[in-house]
Amino acid sequence: MVAPDPRRSIPGVDRLLERPWCRDLIPAHGRNWITGRVRAVLDEMRSGQRPVPDSDDGFAALVRAEVARASAPSLKRVVNATGVVLHTNLGRAPLAAEARRAMTAAAGYGNVEFDLDTGERGSRYDHCVELVREITGADDAVVVNNNAGAVALALTTFAAGRGVAVSHGELVEIGGGFRIPEVVEAAGARLVTVGTTNRTRPADYARAIERGDVAAILKVHRSNFSISGFTEETELAELVELGVAHGVPVIHDLGSGLLMDSAALGLPYEPTPAESIAAGADLVAFSGDKLVGGPQAGVLAGTGKCVARARGHPLCRALRSDKVTLAGLEATLSLYRDPERARERIPALRMIGTPRGRLERRAEAVLAAVGSRGAGLRRALRAEVVATDSLVGGGTFPDARIPSAAISLGAGDEAGEWLARLRAHKPPVVARRRRGRLFLDLRTIAPEEDSVVAAALAALAASVS
Ligand SMILES: *Cc1c(COP(=O)(O)O)cnc(C)c1O
Repeated sequence: MVAPDPRRSIPGVDRLLERPWCRDLIPAHGRNWITGRVRAVLDEMRSGQRPVPDSDDGFAALVRAEVARASAPSLKRVVNATGVVLHTNLGRAPLAAEARRAMTAAAGYGNVEFDLDTGERGSRYDHCVELVREITGADDAVVVNNNAGAVALALTTFAAGRGVAVSHGELVEIGGGFRIPEVVEAAGARLVTVGTTNRTRPADYARAIERGDVAAILKVHRSNFSISGFTEETELAELVELGVAHGVPVIHDLGSGLLMDSAALGLPYEPTPAESIAAGADLVAFSGDKLVGGPQAGVLAGTGKCVARARGHPLCRALRSDKVTLAGLEATLSLYRDPERARERIPALRMIGTPRGRLERRAEAVLAAVGSRGAGLRRALRAEVVATDSLVGGGTFPDARIPSAAISLGAGDEAGEWLARLRAHKPPVVARRRRGRLFLDLRTIAPEEDSVVAAALAALAASVS
C-alpha cells in the first residue's frame, strides 16, 4: 500500500490564522503581512520545498521561524574579528560612545537649521565648522555626505567645463567605485594628466597650466598603495607656489584625514589636514569615517573664499549631511581637543594603539571561557592563541602591519563551513581564513564583545564535536 501524501493534510491559511500562536504574531506585524508569510510557508509545503509537520506545534515552529527570518532587519550588528580596523564592508569606523549618545539625542527635533539665539532660520552648514577650524587651522569648512562628495563638489565648483591637472601617478582607484579620472569626468571637468606614473615634477604642472585652460590642480594622496624605486613626487608646497603664480586653486584629496601625529599611534608618516592647510592648500578633502573615527561624512576645509564658493554651489545641497551624522561628527571631533582623550575614546584609534600583549591575554581568557563550558570544546576546535598582524584598512596605510594576537582554529577542509557557522551566530562573528585555519583577531573585537565570541566558539565547538 502506498502511504498517503502528507500534503493532503496541509490546512488552509484561514485555519492556521485562527490558531492562538498565529493570532499572537499579528499585533507586531499586521494581519496582511502575517497572512502572506503563512501562505508562503504553506505554498512551499505544497510544492515539496518544505516537509509537512505532523503536529500543530510543528506548524507553529515553521511559521514563527519564517516570520523571524522575514522580519529581521537588513542591517545587523556584527562582531568584526577580521583584524581590519576600518573594514569598509563592515561599516568602517565604530563610533565613540560620545558620538553614539549625540546621534541618539539628535534623532528627534533639533536646531539643525534654526538659530536658538535669534529664533530665526540658521544654517545646517554652521555645525562642526568651528571644530574643523580649530583642528585643521583652516578658515572655513563645509561638511558633506562623504569624501567622494567633497572632492566632486570641489571639482565641480572650480573646474566644471575646464581642465583639472592631476599627476599620472595619482590617477588612483580607492575602491567602491571612486576612480579619479571618473570623478573628474562626473564633475564635468576635463582631466589634464601631468608627468608620468613614477615621476612628476613642478615643471610638468607648469607646462600643463601654460598650455591652457587648467582651472584647478588636484593632488590625491596615495592612500591605498605605495610606489617605490625611481620616483619623484611634487610637494604640496611646490604646487601651492604654482597655483598662486597662475591664479589656480590647489585641491588636496587626503582621504583618511588622520587628525593627529601618526607616530602617536605607532603608524608610519601620514599627512594631516592641518599640514596641508599650513602648506597653503586652498581646499583639503577628507573622510569622517576613516582615521577620524566618526560617522560617514566628507569634510572640505580651506580658505574662506573657496569654501564659500563650494557651499554656494547647487551640488552642495544634494550632498548635504543629515542631523544625526552632524551630531556624531561634532561629538567625535570635539574629542580631538585633547589628542590623548581622542586616542582613548575613539574606538578605531584605541584599537590601533592596543599592544599585542593585552590582546594575547584576552584571547587566552576567551579560550578559557570556551573550555569552562565543557571539556573537549576547545580541543574540538583545535584552538590556539597565535601572533598575527592587523591592518588599518579603509584604503589607508597599505603597508602597515600592526602586531596582534588571534584565536586560531584548525578547521581543515571545513573552513568554509565553520566561517558560515560563525556568521550565523547572533550576533554574527566575521573571521578571517588562511587556508585550513580561521583567525579571530582580538584587535577589532571590543573587550565587551569577548563573551559573545566565547559563546560563538562554544556553539561552533558543540556543533562540530
Ligand atoms: C577614501 C578616499 C576617498 C573616498 O572617501 P569616501 O569617504 O569613502 O567617499 C577619496 N579619496 C581618497 C584619497 C581616499 O583615500
